[in-house]
Amino acid sequence: MKALYPGSFDPLTFGHLDLIQRGCDLFGEVLIAVLENPSKKATFSCARRIEQIEHATNEISGCRTISFRGLTVDCAQKYNADLILRGLRAMSDFEYELQVAHTNRSLNNQYETIFLATETHHSFLSSSVVKEVARFNGEIRHMVPEFIARDLRELNKN
Ligand code: ADP
Repeated sequence: MKALYPGSFDPLTFGHLDLIQRGCDLFGEVLIAVLENPSKKATFSCARRIEQIEHATNEISGCRTISFRGLTVDCAQKYNADLILRGLRAMSDFEYELQVAHTNRSLNNQYETIFLATETHHSFLSSSVVKEVARFNGEIRHMVPEFIARDLRELNKN
C-alpha cells in the first residue's frame, strides 16, 4: 500500500523520521508530501525542505518526497495513494488532527487517515521547538539529523 504523509516539515525532525520508517515498515511505501503553502511563511524553502528530507531518508527504502499545493485529498488522488498517514504526539494534537481527518473524509471518502502514535522519546519534538532551541544555540543533535542541524545553525549567522 502507498501511504501519503503530508506536512510542513519545516524542518524534518527525528519524530517525523520515525513515522516515515514505521510507515514504510507497515505499508511498504510512503510518499512524503511537503506542503508549499503560499499563505504560511516557512523558515526553509520548499526545495530546501525536500533536500533535507531526501538526505535524511536516503537509507530508508520505500519512501519518496514530493511537494504539493492545495488539498491533501487531491494530492493523494494524483499520486494514487491508498491512505493518509499522520502522527499523534499528545491529546493536544488529537483535536486538530481529528478535524482535518473529518474534513478530508467529507471532501473525498475514498481516503482513510491512519494515525501512528509517536515514540515516547519523540513526543516533545516539533519543528517549532527545534527552531526555538536552535535560535538560542541550544543542543539539537538529539532532535534533528546533523545535515538539518547545520542548516538551523546557519540561520543564526544571518
Ligand atoms: P503540519 O503543519 O501539517 O502539522 P508538521 O510537519 O508539523 O506539519 O507535522 C506533520 C505530521 O507529523 C503531523 O501529523 C504531526 O502530528 C506529525 N509529527 C510531527 N512531529 C512528530 C513527532 N515528534 N512524532 C510523531 N509525529 C509527529
